[in-house]
Amino acid sequence: MTNRLASSNKPTLVLYHTLMAAKGYPVLAGRLQPAFDYLRETGTLDLSHVKVEQALDVSRDLLVQVHTKDHIQRVKNSGYDAASLVSAGAAVRAGEGVWLGEARNAFAFTGCAGHHASQDSFWGFCYYNNSALLIRNLQQKHDVKQFLIVDTDPHPGDGTRDILGDDNGVFHLNFEASFRERYEVQSKRHVDVPFPSNCSDGSFIEAVRRLVPPLARESKAEMILWNMGHDAHALDYGGFNLSLHAFPIMTQILMQTADEICSGRLVVLLSGGSEIFVAQHAISSIIRSLAGLPLLAEDEKDEPKTESEETKTIARKLVDTILVELGFE
Ligand SMILES: [Zn+2]
Repeated sequence: MTNRLASSNKPTLVLYHTLMAAKGYPVLAGRLQPAFDYLRETGTLDLSHVKVEQALDVSRDLLVQVHTKDHIQRVKNSGYDAASLVSAGAAVRAGEGVWLGEARNAFAFTGCAGHHASQDSFWGFCYYNNSALLIRNLQQKHDVKQFLIVDTDPHPGDGTRDILGDDNGVFHLNFEASFRERYEVQSKRHVDVPFPSNCSDGSFIEAVRRLVPPLARESKAEMILWNMGHDAHALDYGGFNLSLHAFPIMTQILMQTADEICSGRLVVLLSGGSEIFVAQHAISSIIRSLAGLPLLAEDEKDEPKTESEETKTIARKLVDTILVELGFE
């Protein structure tokens, strides 16, 4: 209780840099400045509950702990070096700010996403693996051992698995829009959730609510990372048909879980998504939820899509299977 009271007086840390928008990957970058401006226009950034910091470049010393020198050179040659460095720097600083108790939780904007970046290869608008860099930094500088990564971006976190898959302290709950009938959980640390791509808020939120808390307890995480792609929204380019309502609800589930197991330490890393309308409202409602602020009516103004009974059944059975295979039910 002491930790919860103490942490609630601290701000939510928001990391941003205009280079993310100016030099980021075009599909992802166009949403950033409008989303940041919307936060400012609605007064969210003026409140003492939120602290904005300009992100700095990630250090080369840390980069070489996660990626090969060839990889780093290829990113330099890609033209997305500047945005990738500052995106990774945002993630690392977000993790450190929360770990050191300067902030209750954090949201890191990124101009290039991270979860498709492996040790020696990259694809899908990702160049440096932001989650892995955040984790390696806390492992090395602060001896943090246990982490849970919840990746709800509809694309798979293949790069994250490549880099952190052998790390016994890292649990990875990876949602992806790739439903398949035959499916086995690999291990408690590697939980893939191949969810039906036509699901909407009901099934998806239920899956998050049923899977995240028990896995978080199992992981003994000292910090939870949420790789949040709003390309999961019905109007955006990825799988799933979520509405704006889903994002603050997922934030609450993750916050409550983090409160229970790791003194509220939660870091949200922006992943996929392109639609400006979705970015503005999803990011706003997530940051306002993180900071304990009331939601804005305009941030939840779309209607959740209806789901077929078949989709609901498939989704529920998938989660049932995973929970049984993990030994949680
Ligand atoms: Zn994605």
